[in-house]
Amino acid sequence: MKDASPATAPETIYLKDYTPFGYDIESVHLTFHLAPEATRVLSKIRFAPKADATDATFFLHGEELKLISAKIDGQEVSPTLVEGGLKCDVPSAPFTWEAEVEINPAGNTALEGLYMSNGMYCTQCEAEGFRKITYYPDRPDVMSTFTVRIEGDASVMLSNGNPMGKGEGWAEWHDPWPKPAYLFALVAGDLVNHPGQFTTKSGKEVELNIWVRPGDEDKCAFGMEALKKSMKWDEDVYGLEYDLELFNIVAVDDFNMGAMENKGLNIFNSSCVLASPETSTDANFERIEAIIAHEYFHNWTGNRITCRDWFQLCLKEGLTVFRDAQFTADMRSEPVKRIEDVIALRARQFPEDNGPLAHPPRPEQFQEINNFYTATVYEKGAEVIGMLKRLVGDDNYYKALKLYFERHDGQACTIEDWLKVFEDATGRDLSQFKLWYSEAGTPRLKVSEDYADGTYTLTFEQSTPPTPGQPQKAPRVIPVAVGLLSPNGDEVRGTEVLELTEARQSFTFEGLAAKPVPSILREFSAPVILERETTNAERAFLLAHDTDPFNRWEAGNALAKEVRVAMVVDGATPDAAYLDALEKLVRDDDQDPAFRALVLSPPSQADIAQTLAERGHTPDPQKIYDAAETFAQTLAQQLETSLPRLYAATTVDGPYRPDAESAGKRALNGRILSLLTRLDGGEQAARQYATADNMTQQYTALSCLMKAEKADAQSQAFFDQWQHDRLVMDKWFALQIACASPENAAATAAALTRHPLFDMKNPNRFRAVFGALAGNHAGFHHASGDGYVLLADNLIALDKLNPQTTARMCAAFQTWKRYDTARQERIREQLLRIAGTDGLSRDTNEMVSRILDA
Ligand SMILES: [Zn+2]
Repeated sequence: MKDASPATAPETIYLKDYTPFGYDIESVHLTFHLAPEATRVLSKIRFAPKADATDATFFLHGEELKLISAKIDGQEVSPTLVEGGLKCDVPSAPFTWEAEVEINPAGNTALEGLYMSNGMYCTQCEAEGFRKITYYPDRPDVMSTFTVRIEGDASVMLSNGNPMGKGEGWAEWHDPWPKPAYLFALVAGDLVNHPGQFTTKSGKEVELNIWVRPGDEDKCAFGMEALKKSMKWDEDVYGLEYDLELFNIVAVDDFNMGAMENKGLNIFNSSCVLASPETSTDANFERIEAIIAHEYFHNWTGNRITCRDWFQLCLKEGLTVFRDAQFTADMRSEPVKRIEDVIALRARQFPEDNGPLAHPPRPEQFQEINNFYTATVYEKGAEVIGMLKRLVGDDNYYKALKLYFERHDGQACTIEDWLKVFEDATGRDLSQFKLWYSEAGTPRLKVSEDYADGTYTLTFEQSTPPTPGQPQKAPRVIPVAVGLLSPNGDEVRGTEVLELTEARQSFTFEGLAAKPVPSILREFSAPVILERETTNAERAFLLAHDTDPFNRWEAGNALAKEVRVAMVVDGATPDAAYLDALEKLVRDDDQDPAFRALVLSPPSQADIAQTLAERGHTPDPQKIYDAAETFAQTLAQQLETSLPRLYAATTVDGPYRPDAESAGKRALNGRILSLLTRLDGGEQAARQYATADNMTQQYTALSCLMKAEKADAQSQAFFDQWQHDRLVMDKWFALQIACASPENAAATAAALTRHPLFDMKNPNRFRAVFGALAGNHAGFHHASGDGYVLLADNLIALDKLNPQTTARMCAAFQTWKRYDTARQERIREQLLRIAGTDGLSRDTNEMVSRILDA
């Protein structure tokens, strides 16, 4: 037996130490006798020693298990229990291992392994949860077929694969596809299903189900449609077909992640699958569609081809995020999806890549793999694939993917295998490109230009700042998509991709009648920070004329940042030319409403802080907040006469539909309402709240009123209406903190932790409160330091229950070195307090140590 919290210093695991397991597994049979506090798990596993094994040690992972008995070929044995598992002397010929263990699902608040959520049994095994279910070589390169028997009193009992039979108190399942243990799943509870059906392109009928708690049946239709669209899209675009008779999705309220791609039995955080117009916002609908697609796409990129070891996590995650982004772009708007992704990348991945938690998409060491389910592995991992596709071209990309599925189906692979298929399919040498996988940090790309006698020259200099453990960086391959515009706004050169490979490199364009205006890094063709001396007039020109929608938005975004930086640093007033450009755009009905909403959305205050830090200033969160307020107020006044008309013109009438077009219109309408609320004292927002028949409009109105501190009546009404809906209540908790003024944010969060509906054991509720606090930049970083103390208090309390969620939330402190010494000192004090907590989990210990090492 072993406690979750090691008393000794945690062990670091290195990629270079990888050795294959010395045994193959021919089959796995599991029997579960379910009982909340004493579930018995019987395993029967057929092992065969590998002829070429370099290490024949028979070690099985196991944590928090009570071993009842163990047998080899029917004979009782006494294995040696060691840290993290057991060892045993075993025969040198194939043998059958049997073990019986007891586990306590009801007491499992970490939500890893088998646990209970509202009376329902549920599993989460990625990355290393299966070792909390039984003794097993819990590593992704050990694959086998699983046969599972579940005995219990639940009306629905599910596992992976196809159903083999069921009766009163039992059900049996068999998954014919060999899989690693992290893809194992079991669900048992009194659930109801929303059924569906899909015919694959080769004519196979697949039964689909979304399983939910009674009462949630009416929130499954959208998810079911998203699933069918995903299945069809993967056939059409990648030629990939589903491979079982049945595909089940289950919604669970208590879940650490968004969702999990277990073979044939996806388990979802209920927030990522349940949707209805009355309870979900447009953003929820879009996210649900994307996550259902993501988990479904894993069936090939993750399940059929999995990872050799957890260092290769981005092999499945980067590729699957890339695929789900392609899907969303196809279902909705390609430019809008790209802009949204870049906003998210800058908000989540750039701070990580430029701070103490920086790591390559394929890290080379870790203490706790749960800490590497990061924006770098997922989102930067996807960006790297986007660059690869741009470099080799679309045809070669799909040719390489075809080879990948042919060559590696059924295998556990590495980044080397992945790059090799591209090399073999295209003849291209990718050794320099591979640096994207092995080196951390966001490259800086400095651009200068020259024009003489019709020849225009762009010169790029690339450098990547040092990151933990990687002081020196070599030049990378960077695809830079560039177009040129003439001074009158016509495009004189369409997009071409310049391929940077050197530290300094120039590209010339000949035969130009006048000095062009360059549009650089179109579609954000590489995850880099572009540094270029330019004027606000040129940015405004690109905002008006660029043919690349991403770069049009980018020009507006850069302008918005410059204006705010000038307000913070020099006390400047909001730039009049920029206000005029915004006004023109917002009134331009030829422009896509979703695009206009994005241009009208201010850069985040954390983004301004990051920009200030990059330029050598110490960001003052209060000043950044004040500048944002002043700017919004000035813009509202500038638009004063047209706001009521714009509001009316963008209001979406008729029954709610979650499609991209109506959602874009509602997003623009919401931006206009927030400006209008600054002038009318919340009259229009109150009217919208009173008449809204969908959550998007209700939520938007409530947030405008909360920001204006005029929401007392509506906040209470919202609570009264929705207090029995956990997902809507998460919104209510988060919104109050997100909308609080800097001086009230920590107190608002503290008061909400004392609310009867605050439940620390529910990760969604904890994240609603503390994610919102960390996201309220000026509030979290208020000079009092109250936000830091409150978060630290709650992380210390949560760590005893749920290390995984605690460790992830520690990232709120990762940017601490960018602030003034007083704030740094206050944060350091809290980090040290967390680090000094008795029995701190391995997860949290690793995160806090890395942040402190900055
Ligand atoms: Zn995934």
